[in-house]
Amino acid sequence: MIDQFDKITCNGCKACKDICPTSAIHYETDNEGFWYPEVDYDRCVSCGFCVKRCPNKTLVKRHERQPEIKAAWSKDDKVRLASTSGGMFYELARVILLNGGYVAGCVYDRDLKGAHHTVIHSMDELPPLMVSKYVESDTEGVYPTVRSLLEQGKGILFVGSPCQCAGLYSYLNRDYEKLIVVDFLCRGANSPKAHRKYIEYLETKYGAEITSLRSKDKRNGWERFGQSAVFANGREYFADHREDLRVVAYHHGNLMARPSCLACKFKTIPRLSDLTLGDFWGIDASEVNDIDKGISLVFINSKKGQNLWNALSDRVSFIDKTLEDAKRGNAAIYRSASCSKNRETFLKELDSCPFDELVKKYREYPKHGIKYYLSAIKRKIKGRVRGRS
Ligand SMILES: Cc1cc2nc3c(=O)[nH]c(=O)nc-3n(C[C@H](O)[C@H](O)[C@H](O)COP(=O)(O)OP(=O)(O)OC[C@H]3O[C@@H](n4cnc5c(N)ncnc54)[C@H](O)[C@@H]3O)c2cc1C
Repeated sequence: MIDQFDKITCNGCKACKDICPTSAIHYETDNEGFWYPEVDYDRCVSCGFCVKRCPNKTLVKRHERQPEIKAAWSKDDKVRLASTSGGMFYELARVILLNGGYVAGCVYDRDLKGAHHTVIHSMDELPPLMVSKYVESDTEGVYPTVRSLLEQGKGILFVGSPCQCAGLYSYLNRDYEKLIVVDFLCRGANSPKAHRKYIEYLETKYGAEITSLRSKDKRNGWERFGQSAVFANGREYFADHREDLRVVAYHHGNLMARPSCLACKFKTIPRLSDLTLGDFWGIDASEVNDIDKGISLVFINSKKGQNLWNALSDRVSFIDKTLEDAKRGNAAIYRSASCSKNRETFLKELDSCPFDELVKKYREYPKHGIKYYLSAIKRKIKGRVRGRS
């Protein structure tokens, strides 16, 4: 059954839980803070669906056409600055919501110590879904909600990591005309336990509960993004991406990565989703005037994706690009992240040691070849220092 697995082959999408016809599967977290399936053998009827339809074992669906690639950004500066990249998620969601549809995406938990998927139906509910949350999002219950809406004939846009999108397809097990699936280029999902420890470290340092958290804060520009937070006592935190300890733990050794993200099976071209979003790190500043507000990378993977893209009309600016342009500066397209040898120790010691001390102890400086340093010098001369996720 599905509980007989090597951790590298379970991405925690939770599709098996919802696929199981006798509700024999539930999820428990391991000591690294990632959830994995457990089977209640009193309920299990050995149908084997959990294994047969696990997206990590059987890739359910893949489009046949090669993606059309765009560098794109919202013409609305407020949207762009409030988004991670160029605000394309907001623009796509807006079209769906204004046409009476639904959007499923990721929001932080109320205490900001975790994240989960939810379904919304109005523009007022959209802001909390915006911006990347660099922690694994809990999809518990969202796939059945999406199916129920589709069965009622409603339109829905589902946004998630590539493995969560694969999990949705696997659960639905058939096509629905009114479903649009959007994934993103993904460096990897981070441990919910590590995220919680990071928030607790900030709360201790600032002496109050956290009330808001923003990743990829663009106050110094998209390429010089930072991390910010506000606390109940009114104090504010901002750190450049080279200083914020969570970004450091992510970028320098992937200390918080889910094991399956280190051997991701969903970095395929063609992709599984209708549209794929990311940061267009490979764009040249001379091509766009205001690069510092953020540029999205868009893959149009299917006819449905093309139709939604066409509906964005004059709210979006874009430049046609090639896959080679996209790959330049964005390894997440084709390569799983590698992790430091300290990853396991880091996650284990989170139980006994403060987050900041552990990051300082175990962060790993990337080893780059001469080509990397030459291009970094070139970029510095051009006045640009780039982020990478
Ligand atoms: C964990 C993670 C790793 C990423 N790694 C890369 C990378 O290596 N390279 C790259 O180019 N881009 C990466 N991205 C994608 C990028 O950060 C932006 O999310 C994407 O470009 C969309 O930006 P936007 O401005 O259009 O929308 P935004 O307003 O940023 O919208 C983000 C969308 O993603 C969903 N989302 C946010 N966090 C999560 C989560 N934890 N799990 C599932 N869904 C979530 C939200 O619901 C929303 O729909 C990553 C995103 C995440 C969440």
